[in-house]
Amino acid sequence: MPQSAEEYVQSLYPEDADLQKVMEGIQSSGMPQISIEPVYGRLLTMLTGIAGAKRGLEIGALGGYSGICIARGLGKGGKLISLELKQEFAEVAKSRLLEAGFGECVEYRIGEALDQLQQLEEEGQRFDLVFIDADKGNYPRYLEWAIRLANPGAVIIGDNTLMHGKTMDPERNSPSVIAMRKFNEQIAGDPRLESTILPAYDGLAIARVK
Ligand code: MG
Repeated sequence: MPQSAEEYVQSLYPEDADLQKVMEGIQSSGMPQISIEPVYGRLLTMLTGIAGAKRGLEIGALGGYSGICIARGLGKGGKLISLELKQEFAEVAKSRLLEAGFGECVEYRIGEALDQLQQLEEEGQRFDLVFIDADKGNYPRYLEWAIRLANPGAVIIGDNTLMHGKTMDPERNSPSVIAMRKFNEQIAGDPRLESTILPAYDGLAIARVK
């Protein structure tokens, strides 16, 4: 018997060859195993498709797992810009997207995400979907940028908003936990957004820019 509802749901789906390669690539590169959960990866693809998004922005590429999920949803003619702090991570992610047939669709930009976001604004870039999955201490700033760079109706998704329970524990008050609380409160209360937060796994925030 599965040990959790999450495990049960996951067991319903067959292994995904492209995403399996991502997990292997992450392991062999010594990267942390912190990709988005497969069930949320499926949701990422679905929301991208349902929103009809053609231009996606990802903050935090890691090994390419979420990049493939978004690229699948963007479909033909879609464009994904992926921001990654580390050159070596971006290279691993790029290889996986190439193998999965999305080499044409993705562009990696390396460096501090806040600088890259400023640059995107200066270029007049706008997005239909923004996925935030990077350093937790900057989540509130990333959310502001996501709203700023959003086309009307754009979808903004944030991963790990529960921080393994720390976000709701009043005893935990590191700068990143405080930042995540602020992010969740803004997701829930910002009049520019409609939103929900899924509490399974490590929490997934989903907002739509009005
Ligand atoms: Mg994550």
